[in-house]
Amino acid sequence: SSTQQQIPVTLIPGDGIGPEIVDVVVRVFDALGNPFAWETQQAGVNALEKNGDLLPQTTLDSIGRTGLALKGPLSTPIGGGFRSVNVRLRETFQLYANVRPARTIVPGGRYEKIDLVLVRENLEGLYVGHEHYVPIGDDAHAVAMATGINTRAGSRRISKFAFDYAVRNNRRKVTIVHKANVLKALTGLFLETAKQVGLNYADQIEFNDRIVDACAMQLVLNPWQFDVIVSTNLFGDILSDQIAGLVGGLGMAPGANIGERAAIFEAVHGSAPDIAGKGMANPTALLLAAALMLEHKGLHGQAKFLRDAIDSVLGEESGRTADLGGSTSTSKYGDLLIERIRDLQ
Ligand code: NAD
Repeated sequence: SSTQQQIPVTLIPGDGIGPEIVDVVVRVFDALGNPFAWETQQAGVNALEKNGDLLPQTTLDSIGRTGLALKGPLSTPIGGGFRSVNVRLRETFQLYANVRPARTIVPGGRYEKIDLVLVRENLEGLYVGHEHYVPIGDDAHAVAMATGINTRAGSRRISKFAFDYAVRNNRRKVTIVHKANVLKALTGLFLETAKQVGLNYADQIEFNDRIVDACAMQLVLNPWQFDVIVSTNLFGDILSDQIAGLVGGLGMAPGANIGERAAIFEAVHGSAPDIAGKGMANPTALLLAAALMLEHKGLHGQAKFLRDAIDSVLGEESGRTADLGGSTSTSKYGDLLIERIRDLQ
């Protein structure tokens, strides 16, 4: 219904429950008046079986062209030494920022009214992969080593991203999470840089800092004190699953991987082989990922509209899939959401 040019997006159905939840997203976006033109591409085990490659060049070329992708979950084949497709995508497109919002939708969970966002540095830190065994002594005395690398430029880039994100999304506070009391160089550099960046936003965004262990405790005791959290790779990885746990787990958790040339949006959960093909999958996380993509393109109104419709459907027990204690099927959930969108339009 829009006269504006549609924005090309690479759409990757993925493995397991991927195609079922992607189907709901496609139908729901049709009902919304889709601003996106989907360019369907393959990746994952289905692509490996068809083309001999987990991440075909045509898929990479498509993302290179569109600069935007919505990605269903991909199974990692067991054995065979395959490198994770997610890591390859992150490195190929230098997706330095991982954004993981957590917001309470279904009432009656462990916490009410959670609304926070974790921004994690995705390319540096202790996950750069310089790991090795030190060849001294025998197996009983084995020694393993890992190197962490944080740079001024990388710390500045992720901090700027977090503060800009806070401004764009009407957030009020950024908490810098670190372990600078012990890892004085590695995370001290990050803390110092993030604080410098924060000073440039002082008239708009408040900031503070927390040591990661204290932050983990505070997230359990009083998660409402947080708004946007920014952290290094390893700490961010751990805390992002913790905040997903605050709001009902993986079926509700979207994520975005953002770089200068491309941004890839996904559900945080995997391909859920145990329920694939049974019509039981909850498509909410992928829908929320698509809402993040709307926001990324500045379409805040449509993102809010979609979220309100999701809240409204999940607010009733009849709208909930099995993982949320209901018995609604994946496609029925899609139907209910489309009806709600039409009511609200
Ligand atoms: P998983 O997230 O696929 O499943 C964990 C549990 O959560 C399962 O019981 C599953 O049924 C349930 N679940 C997950 N998503 C759900 C949804 N939307 N609705 C309802 N229930 C849901 O994790 P796993 O079993 O450890 O991994 C399965 C496969 O997915 C593996 O091959 C793994 O490598 C891959 N994986 C991919 C990604 C990704 O592509 N981003 C992330 C994690 C795991």
